[in-house]
Amino acid sequence: MSYEQEKQIAIAATLAAGKLCEKVRRNIPPAMEKSDKSPVTVADYGSQAIICKAIAEVFPHDPVVGEEDATELQTPEMAENLAKITQYVQEIIPDATSEQVTDWINKGNGKVGNRFWTLDPIDGTKGFLRQDQYAIALALIEDGEVKVGVMGCPAYPVENHEPGALFVAVRGQGATMIILATGEEIPIQVVQANDVENLRFVGSVEASHGDIDRQDAVAKAVGIIAPAIKMDSQAKYGAVASGKAALYLRLPSPKTPNYRENIWDHAAGAIVVEEAGGRVSDMFGKPLDFASNPKMLDNRGILVSNGIIHDTVLSVLNQ
Ligand code: AMP
Ligand code: MG
Repeated sequence: MSYEQEKQIAIAATLAAGKLCEKVRRNIPPAMEKSDKSPVTVADYGSQAIICKAIAEVFPHDPVVGEEDATELQTPEMAENLAKITQYVQEIIPDATSEQVTDWINKGNGKVGNRFWTLDPIDGTKGFLRQDQYAIALALIEDGEVKVGVMGCPAYPVENHEPGALFVAVRGQGATMIILATGEEIPIQVVQANDVENLRFVGSVEASHGDIDRQDAVAKAVGIIAPAIKMDSQAKYGAVASGKAALYLRLPSPKTPNYRENIWDHAAGAIVVEEAGGRVSDMFGKPLDFASNPKMLDNRGILVSNGIIHDTVLSVLNQ
């Protein structure tokens, strides 16, 4: 299968959602708090509404497993926020009503199955709120494998251009980066062994999302000496896929040893890196399971590399 239609829909929807997110970012609102205390903004909801609507129109039978849910938004205390979200969505879809917006958001309550999409409408909300990196991450999973991945990164640094990139991959077709300023689509590749300057480690800005001391020690042990890059969101996968870094490690934080990763936090990024020639696994070398559950229950930690150093990193990790 070529997945051409899926790819085009995913690109168009992610671009539209990115426009909404950037409008919100220009006048950053105070974050609302979800019941699990994680931050969420009007842009998270607006982005999910736009993307779920776009998928439902063309692939009405495809479930979407999305991060957000409109239940809290439908409560009276949230009426003002819902009105704000609807206004932003109307800038993309002029006749959208609040009812439609919550319906579209709730289309993201789908279940995993043989074929489904997974969506993080804003991955790295903390980065978004800090005016740093964030990603709109959308992936199609079929027959147990990610087939299409699109990552919109409106704040991603691009040489000689205004920031903004979209990373795109289809299984077996390679990976590309679309420069948002020009629309140009360029093939991307992971860093090669002799490109010492780009043999870098990339990790989270948020210290609590990993085990920084151990991550740094592993990077050093495999010979990475250049200063680490810190970046929020799945944009880190973009950095590895485009050769700006050779290693992204996300080891379980000692403070949250029972944390399990969500599929929407990794699926789109993973196929982009694999199609750019890299490798992705958990910290024990196990393939990431994107198809069984929204939480990756049988995986621990995440290891993303240019491929060349992957086995060396695994042996350091599992000595
Ligand atoms: P990053 O920007 O790469 O640091 O990751 C952002 C993601 O971290 C969010 O989508 C959260 O789902 C996820 N997250 C939240 N808490 C934790 C944790 N304790 N360990 C690992 N990831 C987490
Ligand atoms: Mg996320």
